[in-house]
Amino acid sequence: MKQHPYQVVITDCDHGSIEEEKEEFGRISAELILAQVKEEKDLIRACKEADGLINQYSLLTRNVLEQLPKCKVLARYGVGVDSIDLKAATDLGIIVANVPDYCMDEVANQTFAMILTLIRKTAFFDRKVKSGQWDFHQGIPIHRTKGKTLGLIGCGKIGLEVAKRISAFGVRVMTFDPYLEKAPEGVDLKDFDTVLKESDFISIHCPLNDSTRHLIGEKEFKKMGKKPLIVNTSRGPIIDEKALIRALQEGLVSGAGLDVLEKEPPDSKNPMLKMENVILSPHIGFYSEESISELKRRTAKNVADVLMGKWPGSVVNREVMGKTRSTISVN
Ligand code: NAD
Repeated sequence: MKQHPYQVVITDCDHGSIEEEKEEFGRISAELILAQVKEEKDLIRACKEADGLINQYSLLTRNVLEQLPKCKVLARYGVGVDSIDLKAATDLGIIVANVPDYCMDEVANQTFAMILTLIRKTAFFDRKVKSGQWDFHQGIPIHRTKGKTLGLIGCGKIGLEVAKRISAFGVRVMTFDPYLEKAPEGVDLKDFDTVLKESDFISIHCPLNDSTRHLIGEKEFKKMGKKPLIVNTSRGPIIDEKALIRALQEGLVSGAGLDVLEKEPPDSKNPMLKMENVILSPHIGFYSEESISELKRRTAKNVADVLMGKWPGSVVNREVMGKTRSTISVN
């Protein structure tokens, strides 16, 4: 006989604590278990009584899901749901939920910080001064931001936040985004080649998929008319990194700020590690203490909502509607 009306299992997570999750499930008196399991057989054993699951990396395959008869909802920490067999979940009537927008501010700030650091050569001068070189001529030329053009490749949630920030600096913003019907306020919608040709800074904010892998390669670098600065905080493989290295060496682009790389972490021989006009960060765009806390709370709430008979904030498999294991009221 269960003491609690519901049992929720966190299959795995690498967050330091589960305080936010405990608080959320305390509200509905659900039992919360942190399993930290990876293997199929351990997942099945740990989750077989669960009414809901929270998941980070452990693979929730069809075989696992078929052996969880009570499970009504799977909530993933974050945006991507690659760890979950979506088709199997849908076939079984299990709702899959995610949190797509917990770190927009953080990624936009990371992008903006990289753009300004490259423009003002802040990281370059910091290294010089600390090594005893007090000479601003080493960083010449530096250009004014006012009147320049930022080209966004993709202008969804994060791209738009970057546009808002940089507009305050007197920078014109244009975007290539084939799925936007209308330009967002303050942003000009342009074709791909125009963005490549007319931008002083190019920042990438589209998803990685078959059509965006190596979207920016040798051909595209050659079309960049203004030797722009390139910033990528989206996904590494959207840029053909070998082509970027050549473009940097040949001066087709003036510098690069990369939070994401084709290979993370990079090989120690990656030439960009030694380039003065390249700044790198270890895929940290998503992170702040507040964004992680928000992510944990909202992931837990997605599960609690379903157990309380409501649709969660963001459903990934909308096809599950009409065949869910639990009765869900229309919000
Ligand atoms: P979003 O879905 O809100 O926006 C993506 C935009 O890209 C959409 O407007 C879409 O129409 C556009 N797009 C799709 N295909 C395109 C193409 N071929 N060319 C140009 N535009 C295209 O996504 P978002 O929340 O703004 O996230 C953007 C990127 O940031 C994603 O790649 C995501 O993985 C990445 N991200 C990185 C971090 C990090 O830690 N660095 C954190 C969160 C998200």
